[in-house]
Amino acid sequence: ETHLNPNYTFDNFIIGKGNQMAHAAALIVSEEPGKLYNPLFFYGGVGLGKTHLMQAIGNKRLEDHPETNVKYVTSEAFTNDFINAIQTNRTEEFRREYRDVDILMVDDIQFFAQKEGTQEEFFHTFNALYNNNKQIVLTSDRVPQEIPKLQERLVSRFAWGLPVDITPPDLETRIAILKNKAKLDNLSIPNDTLAYIAGQIDSNVRELEGALSRVQAYSKLKNEPVTTDLVYEALRGLKLTKANRELSIVDIQNKVANYFHVSINDLKGKKRMKSIVMPRQIAMYLSREMTSNSLPKIGKEFGGKDHTTVIHACDKIAEIVKIDADLRKEIADIKSALN
Ligand code: ADP
Ligand code: MG
Repeated sequence: ETHLNPNYTFDNFIIGKGNQMAHAAALIVSEEPGKLYNPLFFYGGVGLGKTHLMQAIGNKRLEDHPETNVKYVTSEAFTNDFINAIQTNRTEEFRREYRDVDILMVDDIQFFAQKEGTQEEFFHTFNALYNNNKQIVLTSDRVPQEIPKLQERLVSRFAWGLPVDITPPDLETRIAILKNKAKLDNLSIPNDTLAYIAGQIDSNVRELEGALSRVQAYSKLKNEPVTTDLVYEALRGLKLTKANRELSIVDIQNKVANYFHVSINDLKGKKRMKSIVMPRQIAMYLSREMTSNSLPKIGKEFGGKDHTTVIHACDKIAEIVKIDADLRKEIADIKSALN
């Protein structure tokens, strides 16, 4: 039992700017597991293809080398298995099951946060596999350093291999994904209509697919072909979600100002006190990380500062985050409040 979804293949995966690194690394790992990138660690927002890409590695490997022992689990399944094993005195069996594999994939490991015992067990699972040159693939919605209550020794191990981020698809990629999906579903939809849908839904691929299903259902219901007008009607109710989802620089400024008890004017101003400079730089850093705005645009929103000031702020915070656990925690808090 590998628990792999057979549809999550490389063939069905559209490559774009936001995922090309992750895709390339995944391909290499499927060809030579346990060699170059171990562990392979994908991180990024929900619905961006982390699970798909992870499982594509397993599917490809099994296709080319059916004898490979591939195991895919969510972090919750790992946790549950472990707890069950303890309760039924079957930890030996549990260990065999997780350590006698060639490729172990654990999805959404941010849910290991807070779970001391599970982290301990996973630490040993990790070491056993790693020392035997077995491949480990992990995903998370954020970098290991930002997962609250994740043991330092796991944080550092997760960074041993290759952490790669997956970012939201740009318009061209979204159109290509829709074209591919329409083809798989045997739908005939004009290109400009697909482009219109891709223009409306810019949050993530899961929502994009959801929109396509909605359009399809609507077209069946009305017994009309899919045209841009029909799409407009079908997606009307979704507009709100889109607007809510798009995080703005202003949202970030408000949240940061609130969190550090400084005023928005101070965030945008020129005061040099540390108690203001730090929140200002954090707000710039988060604007860079969490929105798709350009550096000049971010500078403009912070009282008309130069883009080099923004770069400096981002670099500075990125440096401190590496060594300062408190700041990491603060940033993680602000981020989760924003999400
Ligand atoms: P995540 O694990 O990051 O939340 P998933 O892997 O579950 O995201 O992807 C959500 C949906 O979007 C899945 O149906 C997946 O097949 C599809 N998907 C994501 N990225 C792509 C892509 N680049 N090409 C084709 N389909 C994609
Ligand atoms: Mg997933």
